[in-house]
Amino acid sequence: MRCWHCSNELIWGGDHDIEEDNEDYDMVTNLSCPKCESYVEVYRKKEDMNED
Ligand SMILES: [Zn+2]
Repeated sequence: MRCWHCSNELIWGGDHDIEEDNEDYDMVTNLSCPKCESYVEVYRKKEDMNED
């Protein structure tokens, strides 16, 4: 994945399970750009497989 601002390749920082803290998303991935030092978070949408 490339940086929105400078198109340099982003460095993966880690994944965090946020399922218990967030209604809509279950995981957030952190990425950073080594060139312009932008910081990117990608939220993964929860799949509503099990409705209760
Ligand atoms: Zn950048």
